[in-house]
Amino acid sequence: MTTKHPGPESNPFGFAKTSRAFLSYLDGFMDALVHRDRDTLIAEAGGPASVAAIAVDLVGGFCHAGPLASDRVAALIASVGSAFSHAYARGVRHFAILRDAHDPGTPEFDTFPPHCLASSDESQLVPELLGQLWVNAALDVPKNSLGAWVDDGPFRPWVTDIVARGVTTIVVAGDCTDLCVFHTAMGIRLWASATNRNVRIIVPANLVDTYDLPVDLAATIGAMPHDGNLLHATFLYHLRLNGIEVIRVRYRAGMRRVRHPAGRIAPATRWRSGHTSTQETGGVEEGDSRQ
Ligand SMILES: [Zn+2]
Repeated sequence: MTTKHPGPESNPFGFAKTSRAFLSYLDGFMDALVHRDRDTLIAEAGGPASVAAIAVDLVGGFCHAGPLASDRVAALIASVGSAFSHAYARGVRHFAILRDAHDPGTPEFDTFPPHCLASSDESQLVPELLGQLWVNAALDVPKNSLGAWVDDGPFRPWVTDIVARGVTTIVVAGDCTDLCVFHTAMGIRLWASATNRNVRIIVPANLVDTYDLPVDLAATIGAMPHDGNLLHATFLYHLRLNGIEVIRVRYRAGMRRVRHPAGRIAPATRWRSGHTSTQETGGVEEGDSRQ
């Protein structure tokens, strides 16, 4: 059966109509993400020595200040800090912290406004995480692109080394789901596939997020819009399509699913705005009063 293509002069897509079934599937995909207990993940790996965890871009420039800062991304700080602290307490010692730390001449600034210049506060890990034991143990990975895998920095040799030494499970958390998280996880995934290495790569949906820039706001600042929830879900789907496990980490038995409150629209000078994620809340340790 052939379908007549309407040609380049007309819109051949009409997603609201033609992709309705897939969008419904995507809703179901997100609702059906399996909840896994964080201790179970360590046990399934064979113990903490076989687990590594990577925090992506929890830096000032994406959380607190600068043109790409986002309340929605900042909300990940407590969740990731708590999850990684728990992993450290259980004996995990392989951690890496990836940080945007740009050279002023990077072509990335043709696409995004200048941000996270190396040595600036924007490129530094957020202060809320400083002093946490997993941070002290982590490999520091400044990067000049969306994906540290293609940098000539320490990230790729580190992954290669820890896998050679028995790491079988790598958890990737942070931001943004469709940008640096995607490229980080996919870099490892493609390398593992190309070299026949059995590496279980996990992206917890409640430990990653992306920014939201509504169409109307984007128009006022001359930026490309970015539907945070849709792209978050689409790229989680795409990670799963590529063999990466997408789960929700369960922090403790009986934790209720809670929606983030709707947030304020960020100033027009901020590309990344909004706080309307449908993720679960995370990062609440047993006995922690932040509930
Ligand atoms: Zn960047």
